[in-house]
Amino acid sequence: MARIHSFESFGTVDGPGVRFVIFMQGCPLRCKYCHNPDTWNFQGGEEYSVEEVVSEIMKYKNYIKDGGVTLSGGEPLMQIDFAIELFKALKKRGIHTCMDTSGITFDCHDTSKFDQLLEVCDLFLLDIKHIDTKKHLDLTGVSADRPQAFARYLDERNKPVWIRHVLVNGYTNNEEDLMKTRAFLDTLHNVEKVEVLPYHTMGIVKYEKMGLEYPLKGVEVCTAQEIERAKEILGVC
Ligand code: SF4
Repeated sequence: MARIHSFESFGTVDGPGVRFVIFMQGCPLRCKYCHNPDTWNFQGGEEYSVEEVVSEIMKYKNYIKDGGVTLSGGEPLMQIDFAIELFKALKKRGIHTCMDTSGITFDCHDTSKFDQLLEVCDLFLLDIKHIDTKKHLDLTGVSADRPQAFARYLDERNKPVWIRHVLVNGYTNNEEDLMKTRAFLDTLHNVEKVEVLPYHTMGIVKYEKMGLEYPLKGVEVCTAQEIERAKEILGVC
């Protein structure tokens, strides 16, 4: 069983082709730019079995046949047992599987669950939130060690990865940091694509509804020029 926030049946931005996207409930991070604070609470969402989710997905099998299924969140690695079982069931049906993750639960001393996941996950969308350890902690509430270790682990296993970087004015658009991020990516051999996701303010309304203070109050979105510059440095193609 897993706690799930919501489904999106025709996703076009979370992996290749048209995708059925599952937003898992629960996240231990507190990214300042998060636009889905309603996915944080581990007790929220609704419980589903693997069979229930598979039957929901199969209603759309004709639409996603050239795309697939993406597990997003929240943080889907927090419910890794469910992810493994769901992806096993999908691989049996010939469906492409993808996980959108921060890599935050990765434990280099015990990779057994991750090894199982890799057998049934075709692609990872991995967030590199900040290359600088201190700034990562300030931005997300957690250290950058595990996400970076997870990136190296995926590289060692030669698992395809799309890197994502959310661009926030004054937080993640510093040119020196972007160059360090690029240098880190240059040490990896499995990166198929790099995506820059410009920060937007659409999440504000959710914070208001939930009675939470918005952490990026007053932060302007990046200009088109700043976005282009970041893409250039990170080698987005
Ligand atoms: S990892 Fe994703 S869901 Fe969790 S706080 Fe960060 S942006 Fe929000």
